[in-house]
Amino acid sequence: MIRRLRWAIRLSVALVLFVGQATASQAEDKTGRVVLAIHGGFAVHHGSVTNQLESQMRASLEESLRAGRAALDKPNGTSLDAVEAAIRVLEDSSLFNAGKGAVFTREGRNELDASLIDGRTKKAGAVACVTTIRNPIAAARAVMEKSNRVLLVGRGAEEFAARNGVETVNPVYFWSEPRWKELLEYLKKADRPDTLSRSAGNQAPLSDELGTVGAVALDRSGNLAAGASTGGLNGKQPGRVGDSPIIGAGTYADNDACAVSSSGQGEFFIRYAVAFDIVSLMKYKGFNVETAANEVIQNKLKRAGGSGGVIVLDAKGNLFVTANDKGFCTATITDAGAITVSFGK
Ligand code: ASP
Repeated sequence: MIRRLRWAIRLSVALVLFVGQATASQAEDKTGRVVLAIHGGFAVHHGSVTNQLESQMRASLEESLRAGRAALDKPNGTSLDAVEAAIRVLEDSSLFNAGKGAVFTREGRNELDASLIDGRTKKAGAVACVTTIRNPIAAARAVMEKSNRVLLVGRGAEEFAARNGVETVNPVYFWSEPRWKELLEYLKKADRPDTLSRSAGNQAPLSDELGTVGAVALDRSGNLAAGASTGGLNGKQPGRVGDSPIIGAGTYADNDACAVSSSGQGEFFIRYAVAFDIVSLMKYKGFNVETAANEVIQNKLKRAGGSGGVIVLDAKGNLFVTANDKGFCTATITDAGAITVSFGK
C-alpha cells in the first residue's frame, strides 16, 4: 500500500514537471514566433554586392521590419498594415528593385507592379505597369479597399490612385544611375544597344538582376497577409507584367494555410501558380510550410527550369524560406522583437 502511494506521488511529481516544461516551451514558441518576414529578392545575386552595399541593405531591411512591427503594434494594427508599411520602406529605398530603385524597361522607362492580399477575407488589390505612383503597394491597397476590382493597370491605375489620395510623382523620380547602367549593360549583353528608344521583340535573355521586395505578416488576431512590389525584370519588354501583381502567382495568403511572397522569374511563377500551389499543398494535403514550399520551389519549379524563392509564414508564426538559387535576401522579426537578416549566400 505504502509502496503504491510512493509510486503515485512520484508519478504526480513527474506529471507536474512535464506539464511545467510543456508550458515553458509553448511560451518560448510564442515569443519566438515570426510575426513579419520580408524579402529583397535576389538583390545580391551572383555576389555582385559590396560589403558597403550589403550593410546599407541590411539597414533598409531592418528599418522595414521596424516599420511593419510598429504597424502591428498599433491598437488595431493588422497584418495588412504591416505588409504595406514594410514594403513602403523598401520601395522608398533605392537599393531594391521596387519603387525608387525599380529597374528600367528596354525603352528606358520604369513600369512598376505590386499586390497585396488579406488571408482572412481574400480581399486583394494590385496594380501593374504604373509609372507615376511613388508607392505601388499603397495603390494596390487602395484598389483593394476603394474599388470593387482586384487589378488595375497603366493609366487607369494611375488615375484611380491619384483620385484616391495615393502620392504620385514625375516618372523622373525613378531614374537612378546604377539602374541605368544596369540597363545599358543588359542591352549590350543582349546585343541590342539600339533598342533604347524603340519597342523591340521579346526574345532577349532574362536579366539576372532581380531585387523584388515582399512581405508576409501575422497579426494578434491570427490573420495573415502577403504582398510584393517590383520594377520587374531589367530590360523587360514594355507592357510586360510579372508574377508580383498576380494574386496566386507571386502572392497569396489564406488564414487556413499560410501567407506567401515570392521573387524570381515571374513567367514561371505565373505558369505554376506558385503561391497558390504552396497554400493548396498545406490546405488540402496537410503539408507544413517547409514541405509545401520545398515541393514547389525545389521540385516543381526547378524541374521546369524556373528560378526563384519564397517566404512562407503560417498562422502559428512558423516561417520557412527557400530558394533554388543563391542570394535570396530575407529578414524576419519575432513577437519578442528579435531581428535576423540573411543574404542567402
Ligand atoms: N518576379 C519578378 C518579376 O518577374 C522579378 C523579381 O522577382 O525580381 O517581375
